[in-house]
Amino acid sequence: MRPRLGISACLLGQPVRFDGGHKRAPWVAETLGQFFDFVPLCPEMAIGLGAPRQTLRLKAVADGVRAVGNRDGVDVSEALTAFGRQTAARLLAAPERVAGFIVKKESPSCGMARVRLYGDNGIQSREGVGLFTHELLTAHPWLPVEEEGRLQDPALRENFIERIYVCQRWWQLSVEGITAARLVAFHTEHKYMVMARGAIPYRQLGQLVATAGEGGIEALAQRYFEALMTALRPLASRGNHTNVLVHLMGYLKRQIVAREKHELLGLIDRYRLGGVPLVVPMTLLKHHLGRHPNAYLQQQHYFDPYPEALQLRNGI
Ligand code: SF4
Repeated sequence: MRPRLGISACLLGQPVRFDGGHKRAPWVAETLGQFFDFVPLCPEMAIGLGAPRQTLRLKAVADGVRAVGNRDGVDVSEALTAFGRQTAARLLAAPERVAGFIVKKESPSCGMARVRLYGDNGIQSREGVGLFTHELLTAHPWLPVEEEGRLQDPALRENFIERIYVCQRWWQLSVEGITAARLVAFHTEHKYMVMARGAIPYRQLGQLVATAGEGGIEALAQRYFEALMTALRPLASRGNHTNVLVHLMGYLKRQIVAREKHELLGLIDRYRLGGVPLVVPMTLLKHHLGRHPNAYLQQQHYFDPYPEALQLRNGI
């Protein structure tokens, strides 16, 4: 299971920037490159601007935002927008769909947020979104998209990678064919991941999936998938992870002795208070579940949401 990931080509070291250089992001290229198949693209090269080229800027106008050349004011908005629309359709079409995107921060084409926006009087704000990425997010609001800069934050990084793997599992299910039973099974396998986002999304998704079998499965599956991906976008808090851990520990209440319970609860509490990362109580919990296997829990992706080698739970 190797997810495909769209990516701004300059982040992989391709010389596509305005100055003929690149902005290689080592962690993305080297670490994530071991787990993902990248689909690099450069919107500005794709619309024929070439490298080197003049820089672009986002300009606020009466009816929206335009991308214009800094030197001659040439307006490339239509071309960038059209390329964004085409890419959003092409890369999300079966069978070789991407499960997410990594985009270059601050770019008037690729930036996801806080891109400099210029007004007539030259005053800047930081409210712009790159025109290419804007189209991507408009077409697929649920798609995991992150900037390379934000991926240096351990919590954002973990959340992003988790969502990519959920999306990839859904693509696999789509290839196998979605039935009511498979939809219920998929939901069951992701229950604790959703619970880590709070009681409300947990209840709402449960209610949605409970209607499987009552009507057309395709429309329901699409609604469910988009609701799931949207529910997983907020970071899971320590409090919610703690609730999940205590809940999971409940499955062991007859198997482990008082001393072991005390030890596990102590680690969960240290995690709750920020003293140790999530990997610490999870490791002990998984150790006990290894000794006392539980078929229901063994199907839960909460335990292994992505390859362990990424070590993402060491940082949250
Ligand atoms: S930020 Fe986007 S448009 Fe700019 S060089 Fe990188 S890939 Fe190309």
